[in-house]
Amino acid sequence: MDQAITAGSHPFGRHDPLPLGHLPATRYPDPRVEALDRRFTARQGNAGIERIATGFRWAEGPVYFPAGGYLLWSDIPNNRMLRWLEDDGHVSVFRSPSNFANGNTCDREGRLVTCEHDARRVTRTEFDGSITVLMDRHDGRRLNAPNDVVVASDGAIWFTDPGYGIDGPYEGHAAEAELSRHVYRLDPATGKATVVADDFVRPNGLAFSPDEKRLYVVDSGITHGGPAHIRVFEVDGAKLRNGRVFAEDFAPGFTDGLRTDADGNVWCSMGWADPGEDGVRCYAPDGDLIGKIHLPESCANLCFGGKKGHRLFMAASTSVYSVFLNTTGA
Ligand code: MG
Repeated sequence: MDQAITAGSHPFGRHDPLPLGHLPATRYPDPRVEALDRRFTARQGNAGIERIATGFRWAEGPVYFPAGGYLLWSDIPNNRMLRWLEDDGHVSVFRSPSNFANGNTCDREGRLVTCEHDARRVTRTEFDGSITVLMDRHDGRRLNAPNDVVVASDGAIWFTDPGYGIDGPYEGHAAEAELSRHVYRLDPATGKATVVADDFVRPNGLAFSPDEKRLYVVDSGITHGGPAHIRVFEVDGAKLRNGRVFAEDFAPGFTDGLRTDADGNVWCSMGWADPGEDGVRCYAPDGDLIGKIHLPESCANLCFGGKKGHRLFMAASTSVYSVFLNTTGA
């Protein structure tokens, strides 16, 4: 099984596996990394886009662990998580079943934090491998299906609960929502959670600016008659203030996950509409679209990683891609 995944053949019998390695006809810098602004040109690396793993049904939630030199991600419909070792490119199953896990992050201590669709909870994997449930209810009602999560420098866990995992059996199981679709902040000291944003249709990916003065949150509500945009909030301690639309030129496609780099640029996924727009977009802190990364598949989520933190990993439908850039994650 492990070797089959590494070789790019489909573990469930697909006969036309996508090849691993650099995408065809690459020249440096890869023309698929498109600068729209001089602020992006400086971020381009003299490198090509690589498909580092393939054979998944829906890749999501990438997170890089610098201590181990590996990337983890979720393959939601296959109810598993996978791990890619940077040293030799080996791919293996990290966790199966994964409770249809979606978004993942690494907390300040280096522990894995995961959103689980099927178990409708946010968990932390301890260093001994045991799993701690951080939150599965609010006001006595079950969470819908947590989607994505980020940990602030004070240890607070901020996550979204849009409930895609209870829409049907493909990414979890069909169930009624017991709560509205909110953004939460879980206080590490008290274990208590508060709703920090209650006016999203489907809150999804989220990321802080490098100074944590801003929080960016995707609304992928276009899947249910709502907007396709990124909002930005001022972070005031445990509260969010002055939310406004930061980027909104996604429809009829939409964005799902995002990360910020060390300069405060916002890197977000893109897909589900014009194939020429599939991949990643980069927005400057002022909201200008300054660059795009074009991929052959719709992209759901991304993260920075690699030994020096300047490698972008992109979870895009059936494959995971990477490219080296001249910037590091926030
Ligand atoms: Mg998501």
